[in-house]
Amino acid sequence: MCMNTQRSCRCGRNSAHMVYRDNLLSPSILVNLYCPECRARAVWDGRTMVEDCGWVLEYDLDAAQALMDQRNLGQKATPEFILDEGYLSWQGLSPHDREMNHKLHRELEPLINQDLNLYLKSLKSRWLEHVASLKAAGWRKAQRA
Ligand SMILES: [Zn+2]
Repeated sequence: MCMNTQRSCRCGRNSAHMVYRDNLLSPSILVNLYCPECRARAVWDGRTMVEDCGWVLEYDLDAAQALMDQRNLGQKATPEFILDEGYLSWQGLSPHDREMNHKLHRELEPLINQDLNLYLKSLKSRWLEHVASLKAAGWRKAQRA
């Protein structure tokens, strides 16, 4: 099981659904989250930060490394590794995938009683369109989807 939580950005205007793969890292490892509207407040440090389509995630890498070593991951803690591998990362491929998923289900729900096959096919094709758009926009996790 992975714990999922919502996290507000620094300015509070936006938030993201986060995932914690294997519950390895705790929420406090993500020291700061900046949305595209408040990212100018971040003093860029490539050692502790990673950018994803205008969002900036700042991690406590020393604490992350200690937790990773405890579990013998044999990996060097880097912001890119933590984000791309899902250890403290977007739930899905972007900050709002969860909402997008719910929205799609709500939109297509009327189809369930009419034509279940069409419902499932539509759900799949609309989701693939969404993933393709994230990929085109440059979201990191979408590049490998
Ligand atoms: Zn913000």
